[in-house]
Parts: sequence; C-alpha cells; structure tokens
Amino acid sequence: MRNEWNKSDAARMVRDYAKVGIGRDLALRIYTTRLLGQNPALVLHGGGNTSVKTHARDILGDEVEVLCVKGSGWDMGNIEPAGLPAVRLAPLRRLEKLDRLTDEDMVNFQRGQLLDSNAPNPSVETLLHAFMPAKFIDHTHSTAVLGISDQPDGEKRLAQLYGVKMAIVPYIMPGFRLAKVAAEIQRKHPGAIGLILHKHGIFTFGASAEEAYTNMIDMVGLAEERLTRGRKRLAQVKLPKALAGVAEIAPTLRGLTSVSIDRNEGLWNRLVFDFRTGPNVLGYVNGRDVKRYSGAGLVTPDHTIRTKNVPLIVPVPEMGKLDAFRDGAKAAIDKFAADYHAYFKRHNPRHKGSKVELDPMPRVILVPGLGLFGLGKTAKDAAIAADIACNAIDTIADAEAIGRFESIAEADMFDVEYWSLEQAKLGKSADKPFTRQIAIVTGGGGGIGAATAEAFAREGAEVAVFDRDGEAARATARKIGGTAFWVAVDVTNAAAVRKAFDKVVARFGGVDIVVSNAGAAWQGGIGEVSEAVLRQSFELNFFAHQVVAQNAVRVMKAQGTGGSLMFNVSKQAVNPGPDFGPYGLPKATTLFLSRQYALEYGADGIRVNAINADRVHTGIFAGGLLEQRARARGVTVQQYLADGNLLKREVRTTDVAQAFVMLAQARKTTAAVLTVDGGNIAAALR
Ligand SMILES: [Zn+2]
Repeated sequence: MRNEWNKSDAARMVRDYAKVGIGRDLALRIYTTRLLGQNPALVLHGGGNTSVKTHARDILGDEVEVLCVKGSGWDMGNIEPAGLPAVRLAPLRRLEKLDRLTDEDMVNFQRGQLLDSNAPNPSVETLLHAFMPAKFIDHTHSTAVLGISDQPDGEKRLAQLYGVKMAIVPYIMPGFRLAKVAAEIQRKHPGAIGLILHKHGIFTFGASAEEAYTNMIDMVGLAEERLTRGRKRLAQVKLPKALAGVAEIAPTLRGLTSVSIDRNEGLWNRLVFDFRTGPNVLGYVNGRDVKRYSGAGLVTPDHTIRTKNVPLIVPVPEMGKLDAFRDGAKAAIDKFAADYHAYFKRHNPRHKGSKVELDPMPRVILVPGLGLFGLGKTAKDAAIAADIACNAIDTIADAEAIGRFESIAEADMFDVEYWSLEQAKLGKSADKPFTRQIAIVTGGGGGIGAATAEAFAREGAEVAVFDRDGEAARATARKIGGTAFWVAVDVTNAAAVRKAFDKVVARFGGVDIVVSNAGAAWQGGIGEVSEAVLRQSFELNFFAHQVVAQNAVRVMKAQGTGGSLMFNVSKQAVNPGPDFGPYGLPKATTLFLSRQYALEYGADGIRVNAINADRVHTGIFAGGLLEQRARARGVTVQQYLADGNLLKREVRTTDVAQAFVMLAQARKTTAAVLTVDGGNIAAALR
C-alpha cells in the first residue's frame, strides 16, 4: 500500500485552515482522514474513524483538552472540520472507572461533553479513542488485515505477522466494553504502535498525523505482502454457454424481493438495484464453494446494516430458460426470507424481545455467470450495498487464498445489526411518495417532460430521462442531479425503445412509472394535408406511445408489482382545432390506447391514465407555431395562452407535471383523463 503523505499538501492544508481559524492539529487530522477515507481498500461509506487530542477554547475563554473525533454520518473521504466535533476529554476518560455503561447513557454523556451542542453524535468508537494515550489515532477496516484476521486461526496468524508491533484485541462489539478491554490490552503492550481488533479492523497510533497514518499504511502493507505470498484462484464451476442478460432477469428479481404492504392499496416495499461485474466479482460468484464462503457472514460487523449478514444466491440464468430461473430464484428468495425470520426469532429473546424485525429481503444478490446486485431503498443505498459487497469479495477471496474465511458468531452479527446506534447511521428520514420507485419520462429533454422528470425526482423517484436529443436529456438529468439517468432515444424506433428500457432496467432493476410524453405538432387542413404529414404525426403521436406502453407493461408484468402508465394526450383529442387534424387525430387514438391498456392490464395492478393539457407554453410551439395557433383562433398570443381559459391563468409545464404526479398517486384511478387547461368548457369531457 502506497504512502500518500505529501509534505507540501499537508503544509497547504495547515495554511488554508489557519485562514479560517482552524489549528494545525485539526487541519492535519482532516488531511490524513481524507487520505484514508479515499482508499476503498481501507474504508467505505462512513466506515472507520479517526481522532486527535488537542486544545480548544470554550465560551468563557478557558482552554480545555478535547478529543476531536469523527462524527456519526460523516464520510472520512470528504470530511470537514464540522465532521470532527470536539468533546471534552477529561470527563470521557473518567468513564473508564465505571463497570458498565448502557449505550443510551454513553451517547447522552458524550453529547453532553460536546463544545458545540449542534455537532453530530461522536462516533460509536469515541471511548476507545479517548481511553488510548496517543495524540493521533486512525481506525480502518482494511480488507488485507481482515483477510488475515477473518480465519479460524486468525489471532495466531496476526500474532505471527505483527509480533510485538501490534496488540490484538479479541472480537467484542463496539461500545463501552470494547473500549475498556482495548485500553487494558494497550496498557499491557505499551510498545505497540496500534491494535488489531480481531474480525473488525485496525487502529494505529502516532504523536503526529503523519506518524499514525504511516503506521496504518505500513501495517496494512505487511498484511498485503502476507496475502500476495499465498494467493491462489478460487475453484470455479462450469457454466452453461449461453446466459441471459442483466435486463432479462432484473425485473423478475426486483418483483420477487418486493414485499406487499397492502394488497388492496397496491402498496409495495420495493427496492432499487445496482448491478456490478468484473473479473473479481465473477471469480467469486462462479466459485465452486460460493455457498460456503458467502454464507459464512460479515467481513467486518458494521457492513450488516448495508448488506445484511449474507447475500442471496440465485441460480445461473440460462438463456431461453427464464421460467426455470424464475422458479429457482423464487425458491431461493422464499428460503432467504424464512431463514431471516428464524434468525430473528433465535436472537430476539436475548434482548427480551425488544427488537422489531427488519424486512427479510436480501441487500446483495449473487448471480453466477453474471455478477451481483446491490439492493437499497434508493439508488444511492443500492450503490453502497454493491460497493460493500465488492469490498467483502476482495477480503473473502484473500482469506480463502491463505486459509478459510470465518466471520464473527451469528449472535454477534445480530447484536450489531439490531444495535440502535448502528441503525441510527441509516437516518430516520421518512420515505417520500415515490421513494423505492423508478420512473421513465419520454421527451424529458424540455418542456412538460423535463418538468415532469424533475417533479418525480423531487418526490423521491429514481428518474430516467428519454429524449431524441441526447444533450437535452443529459441537461435535464444534470439539473436533477444525484442518480438521475438519461438515454438518447428516438421513440419512433421500436428497437431503440426496447434497448432504452433495457438500459434503465440494467441501471435500476426495473420500472414502476412511465410517462409517455414525447410528441410534436403538425398542422394542415384535413382535406388537403399530405398523407406523409399525417403518417409522420401518427408515428410519433400514436405508434411511439404504443411501443413505449408495450415495453412498460412488459417490465411491469415481469415484476408483478403493478405500475403506473401515463400518456400526455391533448385537448385536441376531444376538441379539435381548425387545421390541427394531423395533431389531434393520432392524439385521439392515443386517448383510446390508454383506455385499452387500462382495460387489459388492470388485473395486473397497472393503472393507465392520460393528461389533457392545453395551451402550455413549451417547445412544441417552437418556430412560430404559437403565433399561428393564436391566429387560427383569432386572438393574440397572450390571449391564447391565458385569457382563453376560465381561470384566466397561464398553464405552465409545472402544472402538467404536478398532474402526472397526482395521477401516479391516485391508487384507485385508472382509465381516467385529467384536464390541465385552466378551464375550457368546449373541451370538457362528457
Ligand atoms: Zn470499526
């Protein structure tokens, strides 16, 4: 492992932070915390922590000795001063005298010693940092160290490798007792430059930030060398020649891992997927002993809240045998859920039945032949689960190369999974209306489509923006930010639409909401208009909707969890305007298309609705069309847009977007048309 300490970077950090009143100790603490946090072989997604013992001034101007320790919820890779809250050190140290301390009392006491009462909770490992004498302390979950530690004879191997350099602490769950035991062991080994927490991770000490960091890199380096010496490939199984693709199996798996909340309301606890593959992942999932080593448990305890203790393994998806795959996957998922339930029942009594069972679905699915899926309630959570799964694969492959991977006891995994301080890391934010759902919006590059994509994203959905203009689709996705996805696709090309849906399914695992919005206006007197113009309009304003709808129901049926399909029709579908036949006729057909889909897929829980918007100022009126339409009605553009409706208010793209959101939430509404036009009695549905 390379030592990334850079003298001039460190000096710059000290200079820059000095300008905002941050002292040298904390500046360097931030510098090496980031160096450690940016290395996935050391820590991932909020794992690990660091501290520095320094001085600060309280409000009275008195200098106090404080421990600046990583705050819960912060990621080491991009930590800021606020992520290392200062806690009064002397009172923390006095806690060591106690025989026992509940988690609640520990958290409360630590909060009480914060210099800033608004700071985040100090790390669950704060007391361990406080009880150690070293000024700088670094803690990571190095994959290499765990590869050696996670063995039946791990402690012996660690002792052989590190000798007197490192003191070894047996596995104990994080918290007060671990801190006490670690402190006793440290005092017995005053010459040690750090601690190995068996089957958990590594702590290193230093009088300076550079020393603690260098000790970490050196000690991890020793483990890496030890592993390289014994590396061998995992024994592989023979796979069938032709395999199904990710997009073919993901909706099936997503449906099977969804939990019905209320059948009558059509409510599901769905999960979002994130697929990963590559030589390491494939070597692991195609391993002959994958069941044994992946079923053995966690590589380090705090992964449990993201990945559960073990992944689910599904059968090899053979091409053309998707029914067999589905049956095998269903049996595997049913067993996983039953096993999880039994695990909960086995261990909850030790906690006097005080725990509430979490959902029984896996957070990692191994697919021999293809790779793995991370699962989570958002795309971000799914990515974290997938990252951690890939990281665990490296550790387990390392462990198997020199011996046999072994985790902590099942009871210990349960205690961490159901530890209130671990669950607190996930945050208690309530789901938004479309959290756990995936929405596609066609014609999302501008106008109503862009506003609709933004509206669904705001309400919690993972969003995929389709547009013929890839740049425009990308611009909308960028504006939404986060995990928003975009695809350049011409919806009049059926093969391209299929591919675009497959891309979304491969990215997020499936689709729950489809807004078929892409359209364009053509004009012409119906008696004279050329057949070419009429057919062109039908291609986009009818056939493209049909192709999008076919793909939507294909994916939704494979999931078996219903869905919401919506069309942007037009007032023209029910109230024709002069010279607007080429636009209104296919739109009228699309209105009936929505009813046909509602009729045929209602039993599958797929709701199909349409929006009739009118006179919304969007790109569809580009190139003087707005002026022409106003002229056709004998009014000015201003009158055309606002004065022409009953409310005398301009209808905006965001109003139409809001209507799509409302329809997607109307759980008992299907085959409906919602009008968004400010009021137009002549166009009112009868
Ligand atoms: Zn840890």
